[in-house]
Amino acid sequence: MELTDRQKKIIEIVKKEEPVTGEQIAEHLKVTRATLRPDLTVLTMAGFLDARPRVGYFYTGQTTSKMLSDQIEKLKVRDYLSIPAVIKESSSAYDAVCTMFLEDVGTLFVLDDQGLLSGVLSRKDLLRIAIGSRDMNLMPVSVIMTRMPNITYCKKNDLVIDVAELLITREIDSLPVVRKKGEGLEVIGRMTKTNVTKAFVELAKGEIK
Ligand code: ADP
Repeated sequence: MELTDRQKKIIEIVKKEEPVTGEQIAEHLKVTRATLRPDLTVLTMAGFLDARPRVGYFYTGQTTSKMLSDQIEKLKVRDYLSIPAVIKESSSAYDAVCTMFLEDVGTLFVLDDQGLLSGVLSRKDLLRIAIGSRDMNLMPVSVIMTRMPNITYCKKNDLVIDVAELLITREIDSLPVVRKKGEGLEVIGRMTKTNVTKAFVELAKGEIK
């Protein structure tokens, strides 16, 4: 259910001042009691407010999490993804280190000859090679990357909250955002812990429409 700005304000007032009468709410909002009547009816019927005769309105509390989850459901990957940093399978581990520095990212997505997703390369994958005695110029990324089908990915219409859950449960820092292309997956973006954090900061600041 979509609340209007005034309905949201009414909830805020009731939360702070409960029990509060319709007149008092009207005074706060500088409108007449009659103007507020439809809003109060909607909010009471929807379960946001509890009206007690001769006492006033109370905030039910139960709907806080419902309202929050309604807002969270609006956070979609497509509105928060960033440009992906990619590298070819045939590139060396040394090239990968340079690309990571230049692109200022912690994860690279590895593409095959057709430009489709074949692997993911993280900082630790490269550190593992760096502390071994092997020459990073001679080590192709295809040998050290995490490869398909073990890659966790998401699509642009997925929910940010589902991405957040995957990042936590799989203990990874980012997911490629993909779309199907033939038999493979084309990388169209990336979702990192930072993208998820941005979405939640916007939510907390009430910037979600
Ligand atoms: P870091 O290496 O900086 O800790 P991660 O925690 O993201 O970064 O990576 C840990 C391991 O998980 C690495 O071996 C990496 O290849 C792999 N990995 C990273 N992202 C994904 C992903 N989306 N799907 C599958 N494996 C991943």
